[in-house]
Amino acid sequence: MTAQTSSRTAIVTGAAKGIGAAVAHRLAADGFSVAVLDLDTESCRDTVESIKKAGGRTMAVGADVSDEQQVSTAVGNIADELGAPTVLVNNAGITRDNLLFKMPADEWDAVMNVHLRGAFLMTRETQRHMVEAKYGRIINLSSTAALGNRGQVNYSAAKAGMQGFTKTLAIELGPFGITANAIGPGFIETDMTRATAERLGIGFDEFIERSAKAIPVRRVGQPEDIAATVSFLASAEAGFISGQVLYVAGGPTD
Ligand code: NAD
Repeated sequence: MTAQTSSRTAIVTGAAKGIGAAVAHRLAADGFSVAVLDLDTESCRDTVESIKKAGGRTMAVGADVSDEQQVSTAVGNIADELGAPTVLVNNAGITRDNLLFKMPADEWDAVMNVHLRGAFLMTRETQRHMVEAKYGRIINLSSTAALGNRGQVNYSAAKAGMQGFTKTLAIELGPFGITANAIGPGFIETDMTRATAERLGIGFDEFIERSAKAIPVRRVGQPEDIAATVSFLASAEAGFISGQVLYVAGGPTD
């Protein structure tokens, strides 16, 4: 087993709510000091306060992951306040769903910018601390949508892109004790899937019920399902797993 680094600081992007908030909670419970990063510090307040209440060490960080300067400042502040980050969870994400023939270019760009440019900037900025520590864990949020999903040509392409990004990180950073893996969630109950239900014109409860019927374990996922997976991939004992895509979807994916 790889020796655990002395630094136990993790960054979770998009951690104000949903999957990111659950991941931040879980990593704090695992003993990490957790930087809760989202578009503005105010939105991080709930996550930060509940982590503190549970006895965790944390800070709120306001930054747009697609903005180079904001990312650089944010990672610098995190390193100063919590210690050098050696775990990075690239979770921040948006959807701008539309069928290809009517998708404006700015909906394509917005999705690419948050998922791909955001993960690239955050990883480039954070890896220097990991390389110095000769230890690191990078976990990127992909999706079952990477395999294709009607109405999500931009999101699907971005999530497939996250997989190539992850595999290349694994190759380039492996020699420094750093692993990189991607998680591909299926249906997880968050505001993102709530918005999908709205787009489809059905109630969220009905959407959940219908979706669960098509999932082998007969339920939709919860943010905690993804948090548990991140917890394992972020652990020292996962050090021989790298460049993998782990679908967490209640059944196999094609
Ligand atoms: P969510 O909408 O509940 O939360 C996303 C968070 O990301 C929000 O707090 C938002 O403010 C933040 N964010 C958006 N743009 C940002 C930016 N530029 N900089 C910083 N933060 C930003 O979504 P979720 O369902 O929790 O999804 C989290 C991740 O999991 C996303 O990458 C999503 O694509 C992925 N995912 C979700 C599902 C699902 O079913 N919910 C399935 C597969 C993959």
